[in-house]
Amino acid sequence: MLEDTVAIITGGAVGIGRATAAEFVEQGADVVIADIDDETGPQVASELGCEFRTCDVSDYDTVETLVDGVVEDRGRLDVIVNNAGIGSETSLGDMSLEEWRSVISVNLDGVMHGSKAALPHLIEVEGCIVNIESIYGLRGGRGAAAYSASKGGVVNFTQQVAVDYAPENVRVNGVCPGFVRTPMTQALLEQGRFYEFIKRRTPMDRPADPEEIAPLIAFLASDAASYITGANIPVDGGWTAF
Ligand code: NAP
Repeated sequence: MLEDTVAIITGGAVGIGRATAAEFVEQGADVVIADIDDETGPQVASELGCEFRTCDVSDYDTVETLVDGVVEDRGRLDVIVNNAGIGSETSLGDMSLEEWRSVISVNLDGVMHGSKAALPHLIEVEGCIVNIESIYGLRGGRGAAAYSASKGGVVNFTQQVAVDYAPENVRVNGVCPGFVRTPMTQALLEQGRFYEFIKRRTPMDRPADPEEIAPLIAFLASDAASYITGANIPVDGGWTAF
């Protein structure tokens, strides 16, 4: 359970972030959704009974202002879930440098920004970081050069920061979802051929719903995970076992 826990969830307006915000609120946490989508975000926050703050995770100063503002208002920060991310389905030869930089700036820099801004506050309360990665951070994702590189970077970053801050009792873990039904994947999953590929490639024969990812994120954020750090855990219907 997450009573007495102040948590920031980036990219929490929709998809996996939204389901995570709902799970955290259900478990008693005081949640701040931080998202670039300032239309859906406030509505969702009010539905769930939490707060919304606008934030572009690719901009460090904005992230630091967000984190410091939450700590100023709440008096503490226990958990940051670095979930905001963007999709990209381009192979190396077809990819522009602009696309590469944009994917890395949100998916990899964004995780570093959230972690760095939160770290001093997490050290004070022996809090934790949960990064949302991907099976494509553990394996090469077909047609997804920048996305796979960004997620692979986060997988290793998670282990590295976990090692450095274990002595301060700050735990750092990652969750690697397989394909999940969210706005990010909606168009892909509507392509019959791609849907068939996912079914064929996934031992459980189907994509996940966001509500199947959120409980592990909540578990990793809770005291029940007190001896888990530096772990990157697949929630993938068996994809990486295959
Ligand atoms: P989603 O449906 O696209 O939702 C992501 C949210 O993050 C959106 O509200 C988006 O706003 C926001 N966002 C995008 N760029 C941002 C930025 N620079 N700063 C702050 N917020 C930003 O994504 P999802 O599928 O729930 O994915 C969540 C995380 O899980 C991502 O890191 C993704 O890579 C990872 N993941 C997803 C899947 C999957 O199959 N869905 C699988 C493995 C891993 P806008 O909509 O306005 O851009």
